[in-house]
Amino acid sequence: MPEGNGSESAENMPHLPGLLAPIVDGVAESVIVRDLSGRILLWNKASEALYGHSREAVLGRNLHELLPAHRPASTADLERHLLEQGHWEGELKRTTASGGDKQVDIRWTVVRDPSGQPVSIIEYGRDVTRLSDIEVESRMQAHRYRNLFQAMAAAFWELDFSEVRRMLAQLAQGGVTDFRAYFEAHPEFIDAAIAATRVVDVNEKTVMLFGAGSREKLVGGTITHFWPPESRHVYAESLLASVHRLPSLSQETRLSTLDGRTIHALFTVCWPPGHHGRGTVLVGVIDISDRVAAEQEVRASELRYRNLFQAMSTALFQLDTTRQRALIADLMARGITDIAAHVDNDPDFLVTYMDAMTIGDVNEAAVRIMGARDRSELIGLPVTRFWPKPSYPVIRRALVSGLRQNVTFEEETVHYRLDGREIHTQFIVNASPELRARNMALVGLTDITERVAAQKALRQLQSEFAHASRLSMLGELTASIAHEVNQPLAAISANGAAGARWLSRPVPDLDEVRSIHTNMVSDAKRAADIIARIRAMASNKTSERQSLSPNQVIEEAVKFLRHELMAHEVDLSLEFADGLPDIEADRVQLQQIIVNLALNAMQEMKRAHCPQPRLRMVTLLAEGELRFEIKDSGPGIPPAIQERLFQSFFTTKANGLGMGLSICRNIIEAHGGRIWAENLPSGGACFIFTLPFAR
Ligand code: ADP
Repeated sequence: MPEGNGSESAENMPHLPGLLAPIVDGVAESVIVRDLSGRILLWNKASEALYGHSREAVLGRNLHELLPAHRPASTADLERHLLEQGHWEGELKRTTASGGDKQVDIRWTVVRDPSGQPVSIIEYGRDVTRLSDIEVESRMQAHRYRNLFQAMAAAFWELDFSEVRRMLAQLAQGGVTDFRAYFEAHPEFIDAAIAATRVVDVNEKTVMLFGAGSREKLVGGTITHFWPPESRHVYAESLLASVHRLPSLSQETRLSTLDGRTIHALFTVCWPPGHHGRGTVLVGVIDISDRVAAEQEVRASELRYRNLFQAMSTALFQLDTTRQRALIADLMARGITDIAAHVDNDPDFLVTYMDAMTIGDVNEAAVRIMGARDRSELIGLPVTRFWPKPSYPVIRRALVSGLRQNVTFEEETVHYRLDGREIHTQFIVNASPELRARNMALVGLTDITERVAAQKALRQLQSEFAHASRLSMLGELTASIAHEVNQPLAAISANGAAGARWLSRPVPDLDEVRSIHTNMVSDAKRAADIIARIRAMASNKTSERQSLSPNQVIEEAVKFLRHELMAHEVDLSLEFADGLPDIEADRVQLQQIIVNLALNAMQEMKRAHCPQPRLRMVTLLAEGELRFEIKDSGPGIPPAIQERLFQSFFTTKANGLGMGLSICRNIIEAHGGRIWAENLPSGGACFIFTLPFAR
């Protein structure tokens, strides 16, 4: 075979026939080698017979001139295609030495030097001028097969297995019967078999998939390069399949490409009927790297999910919802579409529904929260076990939320532990579409028993404090109350004495007595009113909402303050907006706030020795709400404490409780309003609250 470039091959030319003639002369096909310019370098015996030209006469001549094809214009095209693809095959009609035409079936293959440069072209030719019908048919079959072979999306290999068959036969002759055991004990045999398997043909897909660049890189070589050692056992399996004469074998395996990648492949080798014992096998290779990568990703993400599931400090329950969904589907099929109504009409359904939901998996935190020994004690249990009857409405709401396809549901509730003890829980359901698709739901539980207890204690404490603060306020108000009550009582007693005198006159003046009596009744009523107000304030009764006129409530509160205002010589002005709608509020609580704010203001004005203490109470309608402002002429609020005013226990007074403003805020917020404080441009403080009007 020529080496190097075209001019060197010309020099080498005379030696070629001598070297190769014994080999190529034995071949029945015509074999012609030409250089890239078309000069004939080799011409075997079969060529002499086919074309009628002797070897001596043709060497060095141009092939295309010697054997003009009937479509000479296309010869250049064919050559170009040949150099691009490295291969061409087809039929040409050629004129022979005797002047007759021959139809020749031709295959051209480019030979390259080690650097990949084309140096010569080998031509195999077969006379197909006179083919029998059977041959024509079988050639068409072969043609169809080739087209199919090339067009397949799979990578196809036609492999020459004959050498391997001989190796297997030798083993059998040597007494080997258990081939599987032999292959396991002798991996080197498999390597040798791989090295002895030769590539007869491949399709374009194979060239692409295995990064070969061209068919020629593969054809004629062995498959060693493509079989990494870790896939040896798959090759061994295909040998066994061949030994046992299976029609085909499919296995997943890893194969190597020429450019150094590893691909995951579905490898199918098939021996069509009657092919066993023949030299070649057909191998299909489908690249499943993407699928394998996707599967690995799924496995990895499942692993991450599992790890996360176990590591979470929240108790997690993975529920199997298969039966529960069947239950709902069954209802739907029976025409019951309003499941919520169905649950309400048939309370037993909820139990059936819970029975149908079983625990598929749990994490360690779930084992702890339920007081189980280990996971197995919980897995498989229906959830009914964990739901006390009073918590059923929660499961009903969770069911309805699930039917609305909501992804999450969250509520505080009470659950049973395994030992029947009750725990307060934060119950969270997650039923994402991904989970639903797998008939699963995730439930997270947090034990909030302690939090609930703490909240309860706090509420208790707060109401105690509110009560205490009211009492301390009443303590401060005692003087004014005494005065308030004292005044009508003194008037009653004075009027009583006067009445007695009018009666003891020689002619009693009954008109005078009647008028004195009327005064006494109204004084007694005033005293009774005051005492009733104090009672209401002092009693620790719960909030009672009613429709109230805001201005009227404030006027009543001011009555409590009359004495304090007088004692501190405070100038109070009321600036009420007319026609305000009613508010829905607790009268006593609201008055408590106003008294509290006013007392605070008076105390601050006194502390700052304010020469002209003034208080203004304002009501107005702002942004659809009631707005109440109380403004003083005191020192105002130092910016440093502004933030903390409303915090519990914050006080700047030596014997203050620091609860007044915090209670005011609680009450206002419970009524749906807001409260805050500002400083006035004139220097005093202004406390403001808003309340929504009654609907
Ligand atoms: P206490 O009256 O027991 O201190 P409060 O919660 O009622 O508790 O008040 C907290 C603090 O807010 C008071 O100590 C005082 O420093 C400040 N404060 C309240 N009202 C006014 C006001 N009108 N002017 C300036 N500071 C005030």
